[in-house]
Amino acid sequence: MHPDLVSLLSHCRTLPTLPGVALKIIALAEDPGSDLDTISDAIALDPALSARMLRIANSPLYASKHRRRVDTLAQATSLLGFNAAVSLSLGFSVARTLRPGHALAGLQERVWRRSALAAMAARLFAERLQLDRPEELMLGALLQDIGILALLHAVPDRYAQLPPAGLQGAVRLQLEHDHLGGDHTEVGAWLAGRWGLSPYLQRMIRSSETVDTRDRTLGCVVAAGLLADVWVDGEDEDASEQLERVAATALDMTAADLVEMLERLSALAPEISMLFDVKVEREEQVRDIEQQSRELAMIHHLLERQDLAQAQRETDRLRSRARELDDLARRDHLTGAYNRRQLDDLLQQAFDDADRLGVPLSIAFVDLDDFKRINDQHGHLVGDTVLREFSAALMAMLRSSDLLARYGGEEFLIVLGRCGADRGRHILERLLAEISRRAMTFVEGRAIHVTFSAGVATHGEDVRFATAQDLLQAADEALYGAKREGRNQVAMRAERSDAAPPLAGAAG
Ligand code: GH3
Ligand code: MG
Ligand code: MG
Repeated sequence: MHPDLVSLLSHCRTLPTLPGVALKIIALAEDPGSDLDTISDAIALDPALSARMLRIANSPLYASKHRRRVDTLAQATSLLGFNAAVSLSLGFSVARTLRPGHALAGLQERVWRRSALAAMAARLFAERLQLDRPEELMLGALLQDIGILALLHAVPDRYAQLPPAGLQGAVRLQLEHDHLGGDHTEVGAWLAGRWGLSPYLQRMIRSSETVDTRDRTLGCVVAAGLLADVWVDGEDEDASEQLERVAATALDMTAADLVEMLERLSALAPEISMLFDVKVEREEQVRDIEQQSRELAMIHHLLERQDLAQAQRETDRLRSRARELDDLARRDHLTGAYNRRQLDDLLQQAFDDADRLGVPLSIAFVDLDDFKRINDQHGHLVGDTVLREFSAALMAMLRSSDLLARYGGEEFLIVLGRCGADRGRHILERLLAEISRRAMTFVEGRAIHVTFSAGVATHGEDVRFATAQDLLQAADEALYGAKREGRNQVAMRAERSDAAPPLAGAAG
């Protein structure tokens, strides 16, 4: 790097700095006396980070390795192991610092989206190739473009003058070098060094554009970045070509393997959005639907040719893809909870199940207290973050059989199957205690806390409702009562008789 650029960067006061928790984790990772407990304790000091660690431990990436839902941070870190816990917690805390704020331009958002996608893609490649320490590659892929973010901070005008075309490639690096005195991989490695990240990570960032590598580990990171480009830019032929090249030379993977990778990445899009706070879905879903009809036509064709085995394989593939897309479409983009459209169906289903099995069903309407004030005081972006964290925290605390849906705005519905009124109240009170204890986010170092009001109604214990809508109505009325009584509390549906015993044999 040109000394002028080094000096510019060194004196740039807006250059991102690492949050305290990340510094602590870096120090602990290097301390031979550290173990899972010390790492876990450090993570626990940061509620938002803890929520993300719980979330990833319960995500499809790790869910196959354990049957039970992970409810505590200690369980999450022990499931992940020392190295993974270090890399993931570091990744999430860096992600929080680097996530573009509202004032920043589209390019920054794009870089960040690419990084988040690349992180997940690297994880998928590593898994597929059965490499050790996949989370370290994930971290490398996540940080590979921090140099661009640094340049955007330090020399925004000069960086903006570079042609906006594709972010990858030797041509880009040369351009950056000529115009700025250093390219983004050099700057990224420099910044990583300054932050105290490991030499291994620094090398990975420095080589992250090396398409002609034969190193499998590095190949994963490079290919992950290119796969993210293909995702972000869709039809970018340059990126596709380079991706195929690096996949063939370093990873021993074919074009067909890459299509599968892209599909798996696409299925993980909601997970990526939530873990890294960035919207990664593009108009993909529309295209997927078109793709599906083409595939259906192909199946018909195969059937006509009586190629039954092949037709069956295609049908199975299409079915599982449809299920993935279906789940995507059912969730609310911001919070990952089920969306309103889904709510009626899910509630009806739960209502019918309760009747059929003869078990009680409780539902709770949950509404954040004085949420408007958070928007008014800190802006809508902070409001959005609070909604996301709130939803993630609820999901982490609920059983996997429970459902969380966003009813609208800052109102959510929780559906507790096999759950009577007493237990329903107890669960909601526990959620309220936990939520009000946790910081939902931080603004200028100050914790933002929220409380909620909830109305609980139970079907099939001492009261039977005629329809699911009546049950919903009852919960809504109870919520209204909780608000009227001063908020920050759980109210039960008024007419409920406390003397009625729970149904015999009802679990929950
Ligand atoms: P109460 O205790 O009575 O529920 O007060 P409140 O301020 O929470 O309720 P109110 O219904 O007055 O305001 C809800 C606010 O939620 C207003 C709206 O701007 C905000 N809101 C709704 N959806 C979103 C969203 O997706 N993001 C953000 N940031 N704010 C939202
Ligand atoms: Mg409210
Ligand atoms: Mg409201």
